[in-house]
Amino acid sequence: MPRVTGVVQAGARLDRARAILDELGLDGLLVSRGAAKRWLAGFVTHRGDELTSGYSGTLLVTRDTQLIMADGRYVEQADSECPGWEVHRTSKPIEGEVPAIAAGRRARRLGAEAEVLSHADWEGIEAGGLELVPVDELLAALRLVKDPDELAAIGRACALTDACFADLTTIVRPGMTEREVAWELEAWFRANGAEDLAFEPLVLVGARAAMPHGHSSDVAVADGQPLLIDVGCQVDGYRSDMTRTVFFGEPAPETRRRYEAVRQAQQLAFEAAAPGVIGADLDRVAREHLASAGLGEAFAHGIGHGIGLETHEAPMLKDWDRPLEAGMVFTLEPGIYFPGEMGIRIEDDVHLTDAGPRRLTSAPREIVVL
Ligand code: ZN
Ligand code: ZN
Repeated sequence: MPRVTGVVQAGARLDRARAILDELGLDGLLVSRGAAKRWLAGFVTHRGDELTSGYSGTLLVTRDTQLIMADGRYVEQADSECPGWEVHRTSKPIEGEVPAIAAGRRARRLGAEAEVLSHADWEGIEAGGLELVPVDELLAALRLVKDPDELAAIGRACALTDACFADLTTIVRPGMTEREVAWELEAWFRANGAEDLAFEPLVLVGARAAMPHGHSSDVAVADGQPLLIDVGCQVDGYRSDMTRTVFFGEPAPETRRRYEAVRQAQQLAFEAAAPGVIGADLDRVAREHLASAGLGEAFAHGIGHGIGLETHEAPMLKDWDRPLEAGMVFTLEPGIYFPGEMGIRIEDDVHLTDAGPRRLTSAPREIVVL
């Protein structure tokens, strides 16, 4: 996305990042997280790039310079993707390179991402005479409120996810294994314009859906069993994340009651969402509703998470004790789990506007019996 929004917006983003320098009395920011690098500089990393040693576009932002450090694999990419950024071709390990570059810019105290930089690199850089200060939360906060281009990209990913789900319901039939269904999902996204999946799709039959993050297996879809599908894709760097639970054959009355409680819990959380509302209140609203239906114990995770360049990013709603803001995008995904029996989850992506919440995913939430 930053590739198309151009230098003007990149400048505004840099200004906001530089405000962190004043806030914490820093001389610079060392930025290693893929999503932050893309958001700030337009540098795109792909699945797996983040874990390689070397420099896949580590950023150094000081008050008056912005530099992208790249090893031989990424120099050309950095040159073309990051106008306005000085590209430095690295030749030494990070603990040798960063202190020397920072010294040349009279930067000694740098903000860095404690969640991303390895402990060894952190210590190595400090041994080179720099002081590092964790800035993970402040950097993540820069991406909390999405701009129109970001919202459009998330919207495209969500629309594609809706279309995928609609097609999938015509393809899935009893006898197909979880893995076969997962492959249909992946192939569909690849064939229809997604650049990647947001995460490995979760396709879970019956009792297996009682594991909120279980992996797809050779278990087959069967009559009389629920099927939980949690899937998302990536378009122009931005992600979607949607869950539906569908049924093969008429569900038992108690299963219908449970499903309806989850659907209502999500709807109540949705209706409670507004700028100024404390994030954790959305979790509380859903939790209270499920508790009133005798299902409170079964709600085993938080109500939702921010989504954007990363599938899971701020705000993590359950623990978000601050007001929500217009322009935030987050999931609402109440789920209830009965070990050995079943799991039911309904998840949508929601854009909070000044006028209230707006669902970006809109596959049917009413019970679907295939
Ligand atoms: Zn999900
Ligand atoms: Zn999610």
